[in-house]
Amino acid sequence: MLLNKNDEIRLKIDALTNLGSGIGKYKEMAVFVDGTAVGDEIIAHIIKVKKNYAVGKVAKIVKASKDRIVCDCEVASQCGGCAFRHISYEAELREKQQAVSDVMMRIGSVDFPAKEILHIEKPERYRNKAQIPVALSKEGNITVGFYSKRSHRVVASEDCLLQMPQFKNVVSAVKKYIAENPVTIYDESTHKGLIRHIYLRRGRVTGEIMVCLVINGDSAPKKERLIEALTGCGESISSIVLNINKKDTNVVLGDKCITIWGKDYIEDELCSLKFRISPLSFYQVNPEGTEILYGKAREYADLKDNETLLDLYCGAGTIGLTMAKKAKQIIGVEVIPQAIENAKENAEINGITNARFICDDASGAAKTLYCEGIRPNVVVLDPPRKGCSADVLKTVADMNPDRVVYVSCDSATLARDCKIFAELGYAVKEYTAVDMFPRTTHCECVALLIKK
Ligand code: SAH
Repeated sequence: MLLNKNDEIRLKIDALTNLGSGIGKYKEMAVFVDGTAVGDEIIAHIIKVKKNYAVGKVAKIVKASKDRIVCDCEVASQCGGCAFRHISYEAELREKQQAVSDVMMRIGSVDFPAKEILHIEKPERYRNKAQIPVALSKEGNITVGFYSKRSHRVVASEDCLLQMPQFKNVVSAVKKYIAENPVTIYDESTHKGLIRHIYLRRGRVTGEIMVCLVINGDSAPKKERLIEALTGCGESISSIVLNINKKDTNVVLGDKCITIWGKDYIEDELCSLKFRISPLSFYQVNPEGTEILYGKAREYADLKDNETLLDLYCGAGTIGLTMAKKAKQIIGVEVIPQAIENAKENAEINGITNARFICDDASGAAKTLYCEGIRPNVVVLDPPRKGCSADVLKTVADMNPDRVVYVSCDSATLARDCKIFAELGYAVKEYTAVDMFPRTTHCECVALLIKK
């Protein structure tokens, strides 16, 4: 064996993986070390040895990379949220730009790199949404926080530097309600107990906050006390909702929501339009970044007055509606009924009359539209992380649009789908990474594909 567990070796970090871990070479063997930066020279303590690689942790930094900054979060090394709090934002952007280009060239067979990465000014406090697990500590204390890396252990933390600052008071109020009332806490291993997650959303422009308690039950005991605690917490709460999730699952939200106070939704503004968002509807988590992303998508779509846009995976209709003024007609497709309801209301409250929304699976809806003779000039695709199914890509190509704008939160599936599109006659003309998730390993990307 070249290396053994508990060995201490000197290592120079040459690159970062797309999961934010540093890589160095030890006699031809790759060694992965979390929390390091390109250029670091470290003593690594080896914690795992496999046939082709090893994993270490930092025992000592011998020479610090020039990318390093002082980490400003106490729980960063345990929490699974951030991966880049120890390097400058410029270094993070450089890594993300490179990672997106690498994957598009390697998996997507695109032979040019991404345009310069777009990003928000300050990579802090951007998140308008939090899903905070609630657990009991070994000592029996109520713990709220975030899951540690690759596990469901809750790292206690009542605030997070990525989240909007208003959430801290809201979380304290919920914690107080739990502590002072006969309310149990959900235990994943026994599937018993009531409170699973505190799910929060806030409209950046309107300031409206929705508080949703995810529960393994049908009601919250002494719910008037919960309402009192929240409405008295000093933040602008506009909606209090219970989400019922009685399933033995990792999925945070159940299908049913009961509003116990205020509105069933919050409102926010993006790109000068108003949006109504229900708890189960998708809404981008970085609103300032969203305007940058949608701006780039709008530029790539380059719609003309007489053109039709098909917005597949449209959520609450946001992308399509922000382009509607420039188009003859927009058609949105989305599988979650509450999101489609929001999309229709969103068209109405913005006085948009050239939009139509269909609640269906993207694949089925695309085929139906194709059979109806719909031939959009531009198709926007914005699927979840797993990307599009092959038959969605095929039907889109059959519709023969001039341009396809593909928005993706996972450049690996984007690259895979671009390769399939190449066989269907569409080539990537340009693509841009947009850092929607500063300090984490995730990065958004938008690509323009045109008919070859
Ligand atoms: N474009 C929207 C939403 C993007 S997120 C925005 O920018 O806000 C992806 C959306 O795809 C989610 O709303 C999800 O509910 C939806 N979705 C997931 N699988 C789908 C499918 N098979 N067919 C249609 N929509 C789907």
